[in-house]
Amino acid sequence: MSDIIQLLPDHVANQIAAGEVVQRPASVVKEMLENSIDAGASLVELLIKDAGRTLVQVIDNGAGMSATDARMSFERHATSKLRKAEDLFALSTMGFRGEALASIAAVAHIELKTKPHDAELGTQIIIEGSDIKDQSPCACEPGTSLAVKNLFFNIPARRNFLKSDNVELNHIMDEFNRIALIHPEVAFHVYNNGKQTISLPSTNLKLRIISLMGNSFQSKLVPIEQNTQNIHISGFIATPDAARRTRGDQFFFVNKRFIKHPYLHHAIDKAYSELIPQGYFPGYFISIDVDPQTIDVNIHPTKTEIKFTDDKLMYGFLTACVKRTLGINSLTPTLDFNTEQYFNVDNMPKDYIPKEPTLNLNPSYNPFSNPNPPSNRKAVGSSYSPQTAFNSEREENNAQNWNKLYEFPEQNIDQISTVTSIQSSLDLAPIDDEMHDSAIFQFNRKYIVSKIKSGILLIDQQAAHERILFEKYLQRIQNSRAVIQQTLFPQSINYSASEAELIREISKELFQLGFDIQEFGQNSFIVNGTPSDIEDGDVKQIIDGILENFKNNLISHRLDKEVNIALSMAKCASIKHGTLLSQIEMHNIIDELFACEVNEVSPSGRKTTVTIIDNQLNNLFN
Ligand code: ADP
Ligand code: MG
Repeated sequence: MSDIIQLLPDHVANQIAAGEVVQRPASVVKEMLENSIDAGASLVELLIKDAGRTLVQVIDNGAGMSATDARMSFERHATSKLRKAEDLFALSTMGFRGEALASIAAVAHIELKTKPHDAELGTQIIIEGSDIKDQSPCACEPGTSLAVKNLFFNIPARRNFLKSDNVELNHIMDEFNRIALIHPEVAFHVYNNGKQTISLPSTNLKLRIISLMGNSFQSKLVPIEQNTQNIHISGFIATPDAARRTRGDQFFFVNKRFIKHPYLHHAIDKAYSELIPQGYFPGYFISIDVDPQTIDVNIHPTKTEIKFTDDKLMYGFLTACVKRTLGINSLTPTLDFNTEQYFNVDNMPKDYIPKEPTLNLNPSYNPFSNPNPPSNRKAVGSSYSPQTAFNSEREENNAQNWNKLYEFPEQNIDQISTVTSIQSSLDLAPIDDEMHDSAIFQFNRKYIVSKIKSGILLIDQQAAHERILFEKYLQRIQNSRAVIQQTLFPQSINYSASEAELIREISKELFQLGFDIQEFGQNSFIVNGTPSDIEDGDVKQIIDGILENFKNNLISHRLDKEVNIALSMAKCASIKHGTLLSQIEMHNIIDELFACEVNEVSPSGRKTTVTIIDNQLNNLFN
């Protein structure tokens, strides 16, 4: 047999490497920003067009490159940052693999202009999919400007695989934040589609965190600092009352590189565990500096994973360090003698109660619980809505749907597991002393149980309410039917740059839902009005929830924007498992559920109802 193995041509090898290094526009942003930092830039400008599809350009005032280096920089494994294998364990730069530019150039159109500070003339290089089209001297500012255009122009499958502009922009902002946060000394400007969206002067870490993550961190950041011979921890942790339902405010940097390390995240979560409710996550911006010899960054091409020589040691060290910081700042309920001297009442968060931190949230919030709702406010889920046109339509549906339910005797329903649970529920004393024909009762603060013609109907209160609200909110967005209630005292809310960008993105839909939100200043907003069926005090919480759900849905599903927003708000505003419901509330849920266009499943696909027909019940007794 003749020999069949051949070396791949460079451009093919580069395209293959690009598959790992360049997954989306955000990867290009990351690699290019890292290069600018490595080049010692003090000012970096990032220009994005069409969420990076058309253009990602980074302009820096760093060292620049000579003509030869400029050409070399696009070769695979060409780097100025590593000379020999041992250097891998003494890295002080973000890059070292020498494959980013080669990979990017394999899948895009490139325009590079670069000039070292001491040179008269700069160099311009034009590349299209690894082909060098032009190299010529040019006049330009000292530093480097690299424009990456038409990403994946030669890999349509990749291009089509990109998500919506929202999603891609979000990824870009995440990468930007990860670099800008840990390099506060570097000034950054960001332009999106020709408009400046971010301007960060050179500053310190605390101010950088506040400008990127939102003013709400102003009074919530506690400095953390711990040094041993080999480990230096610095940065800020957020007070427990700043905990959020998302991990979005958690940042770990090792030797100035953002890293993902679930094990170490856990170490910090653990230190906070008694201070914040389950399901909430503490915010932190922790920078760990260690001897490069004790870590391995070369685990994945994206360089966001890291291995410590001794993970366990680091875990223990971090937990202790965070605990100590929480202790000396009087934030933890535990008070030991080593830290008592630092106990300072002035530092206590307002309304702080040891062991049960009072946060601005109410997990058992019951939207029905307002005993005397003002006439212009409708309890969520009640069928007495001011939106009469909408409701009369729904009521018609309702009657039909109820009838359908009463007619279904031979329907094939798979609810074996539910049968067992209803069985155990019947072991418990029913709430009514007798379960007469029209009785409805709540089981475990989770299900509404109702007798129907052919058996028993079980309704999951949360899934059902989500469905009801979802259809209502979608109608509002589509028909602009919201009833806005102007707030007496407009509230100001602050967001991180990327969240603020999202709010701008969905501001029209939020308005149609009933949120009257105005932007003022950098990433701050004023809420002048809220949907008439939402309690004022919950505004921040609800908007947070909408953003969080919206973001998650963007990433995990390709939902239509309006559907996504209606779904996100329904999820936040729905009554939850664990909420006690009155008879009227249960009746309203049933009425409204069967008035929905789709009533079998919640908008996120969970079953809303389960029916157990007489025969099945009889079988249980045989
Ligand atoms: P790496 O960063 O891993 O070395 P890259 O492919 O990202 O690999 O870059 C290759 C080389 O190009 C770098 O080592 C550096 O010498 C040079 N380079 C890239 N971007 C810049 C920049 N913005 N300013 C100066 N030099 C740069
Ligand atoms: Mg690099």
